[in-house]
Amino acid sequence: MYDIAVIGAGIIGTSVARELSRYSLRIALIEKDNDVANGTTKANSGIIHAGYDAKPGSNKAKYNALGNPMFDELCEELAVPFKRIGSLVIALESYDMEKVEELYNRGLANGIPEMRILGRSEVRKMEPNLNDEVVGALHAPTAGIIDPWELAIALAENATENGVELLLNHRVTAIEKLTDGFDIRTSASGIEARYVINCAGVYADEINNMAAAPYFQITPRRGQYFVLDKNTGSLVNSVVFQCPGKMGKGVLLTSSVHGNLLIGPDSEVLDDKDNVETAAHRLLLIKEAAARTATGIPFNTMIKTFAGLRASPSTRDFIIEESKETAGFINVAGIESPGLTAAPAIAEEVVRLLKATAGKLKKSDDFNPLRRKVIRFMELKDHERVELVRKNPVYGRVICRCENVTEGEIVDVINRKAGATTVNGIKRRVRPGMGRCQGGFCAPKVMEILARELGRDMQEIVNEGKESYILSGTTKGEQDYEGK
Ligand SMILES: Cc1cc2nc3c(=O)[nH]c(=O)nc-3n(C[C@H](O)[C@H](O)[C@H](O)COP(=O)(O)OP(=O)(O)OC[C@H]3O[C@@H](n4cnc5c(N)ncnc54)[C@H](O)[C@@H]3O)c2cc1C
Repeated sequence: MYDIAVIGAGIIGTSVARELSRYSLRIALIEKDNDVANGTTKANSGIIHAGYDAKPGSNKAKYNALGNPMFDELCEELAVPFKRIGSLVIALESYDMEKVEELYNRGLANGIPEMRILGRSEVRKMEPNLNDEVVGALHAPTAGIIDPWELAIALAENATENGVELLLNHRVTAIEKLTDGFDIRTSASGIEARYVINCAGVYADEINNMAAAPYFQITPRRGQYFVLDKNTGSLVNSVVFQCPGKMGKGVLLTSSVHGNLLIGPDSEVLDDKDNVETAAHRLLLIKEAAARTATGIPFNTMIKTFAGLRASPSTRDFIIEESKETAGFINVAGIESPGLTAAPAIAEEVVRLLKATAGKLKKSDDFNPLRRKVIRFMELKDHERVELVRKNPVYGRVICRCENVTEGEIVDVINRKAGATTVNGIKRRVRPGMGRCQGGFCAPKVMEILARELGRDMQEIVNEGKESYILSGTTKGEQDYEGK
């Protein structure tokens, strides 16, 4: 029997699992997909919010404010790039300045440091490419940018290095309360655990309803984005939001940590919890909205569009609590924005809740908070590259020419704990296919390396989901060749 089953390996489940791996516990991290971070965690703005947006007194405000300052140490330990570039909420009309002031006051109530309201000239100085109409802005220097899936992957890797068992391709289908613990049925096998932590994103209501009476619903709220080519991110120096409206923070412009310009999201309530399609008419609206922030956005360098689903709870706030009727079952549900920012603080809260129900937890003597850095060949100095290739010649073969990724980097992330097994899994870990050609040139080479390292046939390699096969057979295969 496991001590703890964490359901869902997004940023919340991986943060919780890693935090719990500090203790002497047997932990299962259960995920329905074939990789971690395949849900909302892979499709959001990647912003570590300063914390002025959420309503004072709410869980969102509390865990945003607590989470934000944790990122420097966390990212240092896990060797994940993180940049505190600050954020601006710009006023495009004079009446928007009332909203800017309201956000400033909320920020003060939430305990957010270093914010300032700026006039037009100061904003122009900071962001020369913004629209001439800008009247002023709220500046929050503590906001930052991160690659959200990279963080979740690093958390999963560190958690598994510290003993957590990652059970991929295990969709939870039923949960039964036992006298001491839970019987969790999954698409792969049965699992018993004393405590369950529900971190299932848009499906968290369904997981709750398997173990306890329904008391909240999760509605998927889709947001779509444009991603522009590398180096377009320098159009802005900080994360630039427009004043928020009824449906959220509004369209933003930001650089990603890797230098791409990210533009979006919109907000659209759906019924379908898996629908991450993009739609031309919605993207057009985003384009028009973004043009109010800055003219001259180089949309002709667009390399990708994508969509993510916010897990909007009927309670309108994060639900982080033990079920009132099912002892030992903890819900971490409705974690929409700023869930990424709040994740490390939420993980600490889950440990507090667990201690309250399970009693004292024994610290593990072996916990190692550090993750081995992924070598990025192109970030090395010339003499370091020479030395590395001398020691390990696979670093001398460039596989992705858009993002300059070597075979050595790909082999490394396949062979780590919680390692990649899919083409997109490699893409999210070391970026082949993230560039202008979107994998047009490197995908076959990535597949070859995956097949070789995993000891599989090329035809078994999938792009992302379990059955997303890329090859259907060989051309000029034996059958055709013999004319049968
Ligand atoms: C458009 C958009 C923009 C956002 N921007 C930001 C931002 O800039 N900053 C910020 O702080 N936050 C942002 N967020 C919010 C942030 O992305 C989420 O709060 C966070 O990703 C939620 O993580 P999660 O782990 O709860 O969910 P997920 O990442 O969805 O993980 C849940 C996991 O549970 C698994 N699962 C579901 N059902 C089962 C089952 N039956 N059995 C096993 N596994 C299951 C899923 O496969 C999934 O991997 C944004 C969200 C969206 C949609």
